[in-house]
Amino acid sequence: MVTEVVPTTENGRKKVETSFQALSGGTVPVSDSEIGALRGALRGSVLLPGEPGYDAARAIWNAMIDRHPGMIVQALGAADVIQAVNFAREHGVVLAVRGGGHNIAGNAVCEGGIMLDLSRMRSVHVDPTTRRARVEGGALLSDVDKETQAFGLAVPVGINSTTGIAGLTLGGGFGWTSRKFGLTIDNLLSVDIVTADGTLRRVDATQHPDLFWAVRGGGGNFGVVTSFEFQLSSLGPQVISGLLLHPFAEAPALLREYRRLAAAAPDELCVWLVLRKAPPASFVPVEWRDKEVLIIALCYAGPMEAGEAAAAPFRALGKPIVDLVGPHPFVGWEAAFDPLLAPGARNYWKSHDLKQLTDAASDVLLDAARHLPSSECEVFIGQLGGQINRVPADATAYPRRDVAFTVNIHTRWRDPAQDAVCTAWTRTLFKALAPHAMGSVYVNFMPADEADRIQSAFGSNYARLAEAKRRYDPQNLFRLNQNIPVAA
Ligand SMILES: Cc1cc2nc3c(=O)[nH]c(=O)nc-3n(C[C@H](O)[C@H](O)[C@H](O)COP(=O)(O)OP(=O)(O)OC[C@H]3O[C@@H](n4cnc5c(N)ncnc54)[C@H](O)[C@@H]3O)c2cc1C
Repeated sequence: MVTEVVPTTENGRKKVETSFQALSGGTVPVSDSEIGALRGALRGSVLLPGEPGYDAARAIWNAMIDRHPGMIVQALGAADVIQAVNFAREHGVVLAVRGGGHNIAGNAVCEGGIMLDLSRMRSVHVDPTTRRARVEGGALLSDVDKETQAFGLAVPVGINSTTGIAGLTLGGGFGWTSRKFGLTIDNLLSVDIVTADGTLRRVDATQHPDLFWAVRGGGGNFGVVTSFEFQLSSLGPQVISGLLLHPFAEAPALLREYRRLAAAAPDELCVWLVLRKAPPASFVPVEWRDKEVLIIALCYAGPMEAGEAAAAPFRALGKPIVDLVGPHPFVGWEAAFDPLLAPGARNYWKSHDLKQLTDAASDVLLDAARHLPSSECEVFIGQLGGQINRVPADATAYPRRDVAFTVNIHTRWRDPAQDAVCTAWTRTLFKALAPHAMGSVYVNFMPADEADRIQSAFGSNYARLAEAKRRYDPQNLFRLNQNIPVAA
């Protein structure tokens, strides 16, 4: 931890300074009176090391990340965000921005700098007449789903309801309904963003269109989004959804059948596969718990009868141990994987994009799944395509409009003694799958040690993003993200 207390004198009076991590490297002193002035200016609060609430506020989803910010600013609105951004810039202090705190790379929290925590800014306002929602920058997907579904409306988001809307949207955002409705960013109408100069801007297709383009996929590189405005679509509140649990012995044949059926699936249907050990959940028969299984998880974003028909070919595959597909409240289905993805575990992820789930790629995945290093590890195969891929790659900063499947190696465990084994398993699988992959990667699935993949993540949009970075954040104040250095 960089923070330290240094007594000095100022005009003969005793003055206390704290050393913060400096943007320029090294440390920079900040006096307690300056911190006091910031405290007084905020609607929200400042938490310093040792103060009540500090440790809870610095904890994020991935328990591998254990950093101690010099100060946490818990913002209550745009005014607080402006104060924190100005304070960090004027003092030259490293700044981390926390939305939902879910990102695997851990960029929501910094060592010795300022952590700007938006977790108290979770309001969601739905206007059912215009079918629009305005969502604050610290909201979780569950906040968005619950408020929109009260009106039978939805915006496509991810599959784990405790994820933050901010990080997810800024990276692109996809989930169960994206094949029908597009990425989260394809439904984004405007953002309110505090840029590095401390200005709050309303940014949309006509106001700062270059910045609006950049925030739709460019991550947190351009400022702090205090609110997002989304266009909503009709959905639910009940949807055909659920999962099918199969013995792992059937997985090779099921993968081939999945490939065939997925290629013919309508946009409304999204089907993901998971290779893992069966969890100790009540729906899993006792004799199958902790045994390798293949899970087919699906959701139909449309009428129930059509959903039953679309799901039928997947339900007819093999002899499932459990078939839980049926009508479920969409809000419930959005949270179905939450118990398996709860915060507090150690996590290391790597990810590949696939154009096709070939036999060779399937063999690599199956082989790895026979040697899972812990009972919580999983290989996720997420189906993209549909409406996501009909948007041109340069329409937004998100370039991956040709990906059919994204494979996420979710390595997850509890005991730090297993760190080496688990990360090695991930890297081995990642390397073995590379020859069958496209080379691109979803920016939101990248761990902290993949700086060499950032250009691949932004692909053909990288140069334009670097230009936007130069324009809106020339000092690279927003650097704790999958960072785009400032263009010369
Ligand atoms: C269990 C799990 C399941 C997931 N499932 C999906 C999925 O189905 N689909 C999908 O698309 N993604 C998914 N993701 C990835 C997810 O989109 C990213 O982890 C995302 O970054 C999380 O956003 P957050 O706000 O919670 O993250 P944080 O860790 O808070 O932030 C992530 C990054 O965004 C920046 N940031 C956060 N808030 C703001 C803001 N208001 N303004 C500017 N910058 C900000 C941060 O500084 C950081 O760089 C999943 C992640 C996890 C852990």
